[in-house]
Amino acid sequence: MSIEGSATETRSDKGPFPRLLINLEAVASNTKKVAELCHSRGIELVAVTKVTLADPEIALTMRRNGADKLGDSRLMNILRLKSNGVPGPFQLLRIPMRSELEYVVKHVDEVLASMPEVVLELDSLAGRVHRNIGIIYMIDVGDLREGVWYERAFEEIVEVARKVRHARVVGIGTNVGCYGGVLPSVENTNALLSIRRRLEEALGYQLKVSGGSTVNLKMLEDGSLPDGVTQFRVGEGIILGTDATGDRDIPYLRQDTVLFEAEVVEVDYKPSVPVGEVGKDAFGRRPHFEDRGWRRRVILAAGEQDIKPDGLKPLLEGAKVLHASSDHLIVDVTETGKEFSVGDVLTFRMSYGCALRAFTSPYVSKQKV
Ligand SMILES: *Cc1c(COP(=O)(O)O)cnc(C)c1O
Repeated sequence: MSIEGSATETRSDKGPFPRLLINLEAVASNTKKVAELCHSRGIELVAVTKVTLADPEIALTMRRNGADKLGDSRLMNILRLKSNGVPGPFQLLRIPMRSELEYVVKHVDEVLASMPEVVLELDSLAGRVHRNIGIIYMIDVGDLREGVWYERAFEEIVEVARKVRHARVVGIGTNVGCYGGVLPSVENTNALLSIRRRLEEALGYQLKVSGGSTVNLKMLEDGSLPDGVTQFRVGEGIILGTDATGDRDIPYLRQDTVLFEAEVVEVDYKPSVPVGEVGKDAFGRRPHFEDRGWRRRVILAAGEQDIKPDGLKPLLEGAKVLHASSDHLIVDVTETGKEFSVGDVLTFRMSYGCALRAFTSPYVSKQKV
């Protein structure tokens, strides 16, 4: 048994645990739904694979079910997909490191960028390897992550788009809901669209508008998205059926796409408040305890190396995650009305951050169901 787990493992009730159960049918269904929604408004769907560590089977499922492109924030993930024969085109989501530009030009079809010098270097490399690469120039409309500040965007982009000879500025894009938690709105979308109009006039060709991520789906659903956005980059919605920034389960998507399972290694009955003087926990946090008397608890064999405890949602009603250290996850099962034994398995849904960690942990086996 390999600790890595592999894409070819089949499900068995004997583990290995902890594990992720990946339902490819649900991935297919979610991709189809999101693709239909996007395509009905003439929007290209870039399905984002980064939360899955670019799992080739998941990516292929997305590509076969309506995703027009695959996007990932890490070049290494795009290389993984390519070496597994997953068809592109591929978009690099994270503005690239200077040290990787040569590989970006060789392997990526479309790249998000936000610095003139990076675009110019991509351009000269593109000339050298005779490979065209499309650049989406990022504009910050208020979330304060990447992109040229919107008030300076027109001047900066016109200048650089006129200079490139081999690469091409094919569009502009924006990102919300990531640092500032800013929600997409008609106002911030219109800000982007008005920059696009001025750029198209100045440059004399049409530009794509890469308008957002999972959180923007809401605007497609309620019809409030202004006309003119041509591309969405969606990860969380497809993989988890949720929208963390919008704080909702997306009603027409499945949430059973990826589940986490861990095995019980201790069943106990203990007080809810520790005995002895309390300092900080293993991660420098000062734990807080509410006295709820003696509680039935289980310890599961998983921890901070595998999951984010506050991002785990037990499927079993009444179960409550209390805490995790590196390798021990403590769950209060008093309210479940169930008797537990060592060897039992608990199943959880996950937040985006928790799923990211589980996919990234080499200790969590990945099994397709
Ligand atoms: C991760 C990422 C996305 C996808 O975001 P989701 O919330 O997972 O849909 C889109 N664009 C960029 C630039 C990203 O880094």
